[in-house]
Amino acid sequence: MNYSDEEICMGALTEEGSTYGEVTPPIYQSTIFTKSSFETFTKEQSEEDQHFVYSRGTNPTVQVLEKKLAMLERAEACKCFGSGMGAISAVWMTLLKAGDHVLFMNNIYGPTLQLAAHMERFGIEYTVFDHEQGRAVEEGIKENTRLIYLESPGTMKMKVVDIKHITDAAKKRGIYTMMDNTWATPLFQKPMTLGVDIVIHSLTKYIGGHSDVVGGAVISSHALIKQLFFSGYQLFGSVLQADSAAMIIRGLRTLPLRMKQHQDNALQVISYLESRPEVKAVHHPAADKQNRVLIEQQLQGYAGLLSFELEDAGFEKVAAFINHLTLFRIGTSWGGYESLVNSPLKKDNHEQLKAQGFDLGMIRLSVGLEGAAMQIKDLEKGFQAVTAY
Ligand SMILES: *Cc1c(COP(=O)(O)O)cnc(C)c1O
Repeated sequence: MNYSDEEICMGALTEEGSTYGEVTPPIYQSTIFTKSSFETFTKEQSEEDQHFVYSRGTNPTVQVLEKKLAMLERAEACKCFGSGMGAISAVWMTLLKAGDHVLFMNNIYGPTLQLAAHMERFGIEYTVFDHEQGRAVEEGIKENTRLIYLESPGTMKMKVVDIKHITDAAKKRGIYTMMDNTWATPLFQKPMTLGVDIVIHSLTKYIGGHSDVVGGAVISSHALIKQLFFSGYQLFGSVLQADSAAMIIRGLRTLPLRMKQHQDNALQVISYLESRPEVKAVHHPAADKQNRVLIEQQLQGYAGLLSFELEDAGFEKVAAFINHLTLFRIGTSWGGYESLVNSPLKKDNHEQLKAQGFDLGMIRLSVGLEGAAMQIKDLEKGFQAVTAY
């Protein structure tokens, strides 16, 4: 069966078993699913990944979402989680043990690295090869490397890495590869087709899309998801609720339309930023002049999250720029309908940022759906405010 991404998102497949002709899946708000005989109960309880028994295992509404996400990533199976971090930690708890090493490729989402630092107390080591170091994956692989974890585009600087090169190197040595595909969504990038073993998503971002639900997903082979189910998922208990799953299914229906609009708006915002003399650099795959061939191979489109560097900036200048925006609201997270602005800069972390290779004038924009003309008009106010600095 070959469904287009649009069909999968909009529900051609998974709502087919409707009872009353409904066009949305029912929300099965039940913690338990009772059985007609004790024999059935004992059998299904021992195969809980395949039967509805208890909602910390499987739930019919959550399963609709899991099927869609697996299909979108061209994978066999998916398990949903209460958050993106829940998904990441469950995989690590399933696959890693004391003595293992994890290699991170590219600039990685902050809390993911914080979790890696936390895992050190359990005897799991890690190293980070960020994009700036420009080092090849082979250099970082150790005798005890069990997992290579990547983001592409990476966090903040949005640099791409050569996914196929990394998965080839890992496969030769029997190392798992795991990739955070939240930025691109499965519509714009399909890492499993490039050999990645495990894809994770924060469903909180574009897939949910409306800043009203937190969720995560792990997508992989049947065998890996089964292993994950009985350890990192069921025992650590980061569960997605049925009503949250229903909201994320609703988000998916408009994902193709929204991503197109995020892309259109972001491309116009990028050209505008590139035209401003106050801007030292724009970070987004569409603004990356060096890696065009790789970018066009790996990405089928551009999301709306980007960052840029204000020239000669310190805390006051960055604050003035951000405070003068009104359409771009100040907040964390991204991928919702609304435009957001943020910066990693604090009053007291300048040395730390420089050590991480970040410019002090780094500002992050989540370009929302409102329309590029409005967004650019808003940014204009920020630039007017900083001319005095
Ligand atoms: C937000 C985010 C996560 C974590 O997801 P939560 O749903 O907030 O737990 C992981 N990776 C990336 C790239 C993210 O932006």
